[in-house]
Amino acid sequence: MKKKLAITLVLLLGKPGAGKGTRTKEFLEKHFNWRAFSTGDVLREEKAKGTPLGKRAQEYMDKGLLVPDYLMAEILKNSIENLKEQNIEGIILDGFPRNCTQIVIMQKLGIVPQKIIEIHVDDKEAVRRLSNRLTCSDSKCGKSYSRNGEKAPIHAGICDNCGSPLIVRSDDTPEKAEERLKVYHSQTAPVIPELQMVFKDAAYLKIPTRLLEGNDEELQKTFEEFLLF
Ligand code: AMP
Repeated sequence: MKKKLAITLVLLLGKPGAGKGTRTKEFLEKHFNWRAFSTGDVLREEKAKGTPLGKRAQEYMDKGLLVPDYLMAEILKNSIENLKEQNIEGIILDGFPRNCTQIVIMQKLGIVPQKIIEIHVDDKEAVRRLSNRLTCSDSKCGKSYSRNGEKAPIHAGICDNCGSPLIVRSDDTPEKAEERLKVYHSQTAPVIPELQMVFKDAAYLKIPTRLLEGNDEELQKTFEEFLLF
């Protein structure tokens, strides 16, 4: 029997630009038998393939707005089912829920997180990062770099990880970064206290984004203590 009976589910929350996806995914997949999946990556993949779902999502994503909940419910259900078939010990869900209705969707689908990690960055720094960001064009990789030399790729314009070209995401302009932060404050920030109320047994950890920029050892200690116990 391939199917695992119990897989830990961890929600990864934070503002756009907090550094949720890149470092956390890289780290957890390298050091633990976990898989991270980001709803933003799934949407970009659908967009790139030109599927009906991708086309419907595109108009919202390009404006920095949230994609409608009924589409997100479909994505969540399919992705979690796929991951549950794999021989893994944990799933990191990056970018869901983004509003309180999406918490209700989780409840309806019987998806219960055991842990919640919030990564904190201040607004000014988030906009600065998003406006300087370069992203791997292969959405399965999705590694990000910066255009201001802080996190440069080894070869200009090429992803160190998979060799794909780097692009500027259409929603990574300063104007759209500001819009995404407005959406975060009005719709996503209230999700954190609500999650803690609905999923009372879930352990909660808030970490500053600088921890993701530090050495692997410090991050490993934090994650090991929080995720494995
Ligand atoms: P991200 O890669 O997490 O920054 O997401 C990029 C864009 O995808 C967001 O600005 C939204 O348009 C869309 N998106 C990702 N996750 C969700 C979600 N849970 N609900 C609605 N829209 C989402």
